[in-house]
Amino acid sequence: MIWDELQAGLQELEGEGLKRRRRVLDSPCGPVCTVDGREVVSFCSNDYLGLANDPRLIAAAQAAAAQWGVGSGASHLVSGHLRPHETLETALAEFVGFPRALSFSTGYMANLAIVPALVGRGDAVFADKVNHASLIDAVQLSRADSHRYLHGDVASLSAMLKASTARRKLILTDAVFSMDGDLAPLPALLELAERHDAWLVIDDAHGFGVLGENGRGSLSHFGLVTKTQPANKRVILMGTLGKAAGGSGAFVAADSLVIEWLLQRARTYIFTTAASPIMAATLLTALDCIINADAARDKLMQRIAQLRSGLEDTRWRMLRSETAIQPIIVGDNAECVRVAEALLERGLWVPAIRPPTVPKGTARLRVSLSATHTEAHVAALVDALKALA
Ligand SMILES: *Cc1c(COP(=O)(O)O)cnc(C)c1O
Repeated sequence: MIWDELQAGLQELEGEGLKRRRRVLDSPCGPVCTVDGREVVSFCSNDYLGLANDPRLIAAAQAAAAQWGVGSGASHLVSGHLRPHETLETALAEFVGFPRALSFSTGYMANLAIVPALVGRGDAVFADKVNHASLIDAVQLSRADSHRYLHGDVASLSAMLKASTARRKLILTDAVFSMDGDLAPLPALLELAERHDAWLVIDDAHGFGVLGENGRGSLSHFGLVTKTQPANKRVILMGTLGKAAGGSGAFVAADSLVIEWLLQRARTYIFTTAASPIMAATLLTALDCIINADAARDKLMQRIAQLRSGLEDTRWRMLRSETAIQPIIVGDNAECVRVAEALLERGLWVPAIRPPTVPKGTARLRVSLSATHTEAHVAALVDALKALA
C-alpha cells in the first residue's frame, strides 16, 4: 500500500537518527532567542549582519505596508511589478556591478530559473561536487548533461571542459560553500569560462553583504568587480536576500541580454506571484544598511578569528574557512548529535549537520557567526566545546 511505504520510510529515517524536527522560536531571529521555553545563544542563522530584526528595517516595512499594501496581487509580467520592485532591482544591479538585475521570491527559485534558461538537452553543465541542493536540482530541470568536478578543483574542471564536445557549456558553483564555508576559486573559474566559451554561474548566497568592498560579495572579494570595473559579461550572479540582507528573496544580476532572456523565459519568474512590495521596499533599506555596515563586518571578522583561535587545539578539525560559516568536523553521526545536545543543555544552539547533507564520516557542527554575537557569546561556545572535546 502506498501509505505503508511512507510509514516505512519515516521509520527508516527514525532508525538512522536522520528524522528531522523543527523547533519553534518564540522570539525574533537574533543572537539570543527563545526556544522550547528557554533562552539560548543561537549559532544557527544566516543573519550575518543582524539585519533580520533591525529597527531600520522594521520601520521601512511599516512605512511600506502603509504606502503599498501587503500583497503584489499578481506575477511580475501581469500587474505585480510595483515601483519598489523596480527600484530594488536597479539598486541591486548597480551595487554588485552589473548592468541589470531581476528579483525572485527565493534563491531556490532563482537558481531553478538560471540553468534551464541557458542550457538544455545536449548541452553540458560543469558543477562543483558540493554545490547547494538548489543548483543540483536546477541542472536536473535543465536536462543538460551533468559533469561534477572535485570540490574546488580547477584541474579536474579543466580536464572535463577540454574533453567536452557540447555546444553550450555552463560552469556552476557556490561562491561560499554553504556546508564548508570555503570560497570557490572564482578567478580561475572565470579564466576557464573564457577559454572554453562557457557561462559562469555564481551562487553568492553567503558572500553577498558579507564579503568584498561594502559587502558587494565574492566577486568584489576577488577583485573581479570594482566601483569602476563592471563584471565580466559571461558571469551570472545569484544573490539571496534572506541571509545577510535580513529579509527574503533573491536576485540574478547579469548582462542586460541575459536578464531580458530570463525575464522572457524563466518559468520560476513568470509563473509565480511577485513578492510583497513590503519586502521589496524593506530590502532597499537593507541594501543601504549593508553598504554602511563596515563596522559590523569588522566585528564579524573578529568573532570568526576568536572562534578559530579558541578552538585551535581541540581534537576536532576545523575547515579552512574565512567566512561566517565555521564547521567543526566531529566525524561520527551519533557523537555529533550528542555534542550538539550537550551544547544546547548549556544554552548554546549549534546545528549538527549529517550525511546525506555532507559526505559520510564528516558529520559536523555548523557554527554560523553574526556581527551581533558578542565576544562573551563566542567565548562561551569555545569554553563549552573545549570541555566537551
Ligand atoms: C540558502 C541558499 C540558497 C537558497 O536561497 P533561499 O533564498 O533560501 O531559497 C541557494 N544557494 C545557497 C548556496 C544557499 O545557501
